[in-house]
Amino acid sequence: MSSFENKVVIVTGGSRGIGRAIAESFKKAGARVYVTYKNSIDNIHFDSMGIKHAMCDASDFKQVQEFVDSVIKENGSIDILVNNAGLTKDGLLMRMGEDDWDIVLNTNAKGVFNFTKAVCRQMISQKRGKIINISSVVGITGNAGQANYAASKAAVIGFTKSAAKELASRNININCIAPGYIDTDMTSKLGDSVKQGILEEIPLKRIGEGKDVANAVMFLSSDDADYITGQILCVDGGMVM
Ligand code: NDP
Repeated sequence: MSSFENKVVIVTGGSRGIGRAIAESFKKAGARVYVTYKNSIDNIHFDSMGIKHAMCDASDFKQVQEFVDSVIKENGSIDILVNNAGLTKDGLLMRMGEDDWDIVLNTNAKGVFNFTKAVCRQMISQKRGKIINISSVVGITGNAGQANYAASKAAVIGFTKSAAKELASRNININCIAPGYIDTDMTSKLGDSVKQGILEEIPLKRIGEGKDVANAVMFLSSDDADYITGQILCVDGGMVM
């Protein structure tokens, strides 16, 4: 079993939902964990867990660079980056506004570029690093009402494979996790009939939890996954196979 003792880990969008479950898993495994968020965070909870936190808009290139530089300055290294920050602005294409497209692509896709680029130089000089990008099964299958979101998550898959090819020779592994339906604030907006319909599509017959995704992130971040790069792992109860 790999150890995460004193590993430096950044989890973007770690204030809630899947990101929070990932951050807490790393912390429990002994890592030095930093989470980012855009709007607000439960300071008391994160302080009590010893998880550092910073407001940093993933879509803002400069803010991301400054945040990553501060983590490097404090620790001298970055071992693991989890690009998790994301949002939805759902609507049928006919009604989707330009703003809905821009914010989703800028957060979910450009945010992954911003953070990966910011940690890249440090990981290259260390000659090691693990990057896990959180995509979605919707980036593979598409979904009516989510053209912007599906495009952003498909972009993350293409980005992951390209960056994995570029950085493999530097001993940096970059993989993607594509969650299915996970119980968080993001999915709580869906109506009961939609949720029931989704449940019927899940062979394992349960909604996923943040912990299910966190377990996969921990594996792909560990030494046990040293020979895995450029892959897409669906964590979806078997929805997409
Ligand atoms: P939540 O809505 O519960 O949490 C989203 C997190 O991302 C929050 O911490 C939020 O911060 C942060 N965030 C949003 N925009 C930005 C930004 N511009 N900069 C920094 N942080 C930001 O989402 P989930 O936990 O459900 O989703 C996490 C990831 O998993 C996302 O990428 C999502 O697309 C993906 N995913 C989720 C699925 C699900 O079923 N839940 C399925 C497939 C993929 P703040 O609170 O400050 O806004």
